[in-house]
Amino acid sequence: MPLQKDGGRRRGRSRRLQADPQLRLPYDAGFERPDATPVSAPPSSRERGREADAMPPASSREAGVLQFVVNRRARRYVLRLRHDGSLRVTIPRSGNRRQAEEFVERCAAWIARQRERHAERAAAQREAWTDGRLVLWRGRPTRLAVVPCGERVRIALGEVTAEAPAGASVRDALGRACRRRAEQELGPRVRELAAPLALDVARVVVRDQRTRWGSCSRYGSISLNWRLLQMPDEVRDYVIYHELMHLKRADHSRRFWRLVAGVCPWYREAERWLRLHGPQLL
Ligand SMILES: [Zn+2]
Repeated sequence: MPLQKDGGRRRGRSRRLQADPQLRLPYDAGFERPDATPVSAPPSSRERGREADAMPPASSREAGVLQFVVNRRARRYVLRLRHDGSLRVTIPRSGNRRQAEEFVERCAAWIARQRERHAERAAAQREAWTDGRLVLWRGRPTRLAVVPCGERVRIALGEVTAEAPAGASVRDALGRACRRRAEQELGPRVRELAAPLALDVARVVVRDQRTRWGSCSRYGSISLNWRLLQMPDEVRDYVIYHELMHLKRADHSRRFWRLVAGVCPWYREAERWLRLHGPQLL
């Protein structure tokens, strides 16, 4: 499958602490942007030694707020670094605060790496919305145009155009225009892919989700991120197939992945593209 691989800066990211996607969101028929991937561990996985990554325990906490949340449905500890820099630790029913703190300490290296990536991304965002910048659009690096025009600026990316008052957020204006474009395109595409599979889609909603590519409700409503338009068509279709298969199975079990493979044999390559390029999407 010809996935566009150009335009991406490879970052030497270690993903060792990333949980297996089949275990990650057992009750949640959605999947997440890589930059939001939580780390998780079973309630008593003390043996998961990470001596090589060990840092002074305090380093995992000093940089931000640490919040503990007990979730009776959770089956393992889950650590999430939020966009505001705070950390949230989910404690499973069988867990306790002390083990949760130990879990956080074991994840010190992961936290440090994530914070570094947040900082890099924030720096990239500051210079992001300028004329001439290359942005992924349908999988290809595409020049963003931001041209002053009297009191306003004209913005163009691929076939999407927008206008904003001078000084207003280019990002917001472009994001709204991309979302409108995605609303025109993604609904029909979902139905096109669903029809031969005899799947009934109640509703397609396009969102500006910070942390997800898509999700599927138990009532047959599929939500998709407008950033699917930034992906190569094959990757966009994979995200749609992924959510469509959640109409059959609302989990990430082996059977689910077999269903995905059945309709979308290139899904592994698509996942790889998302891991590599997902964090750079607008
Ligand atoms: Zn999923």
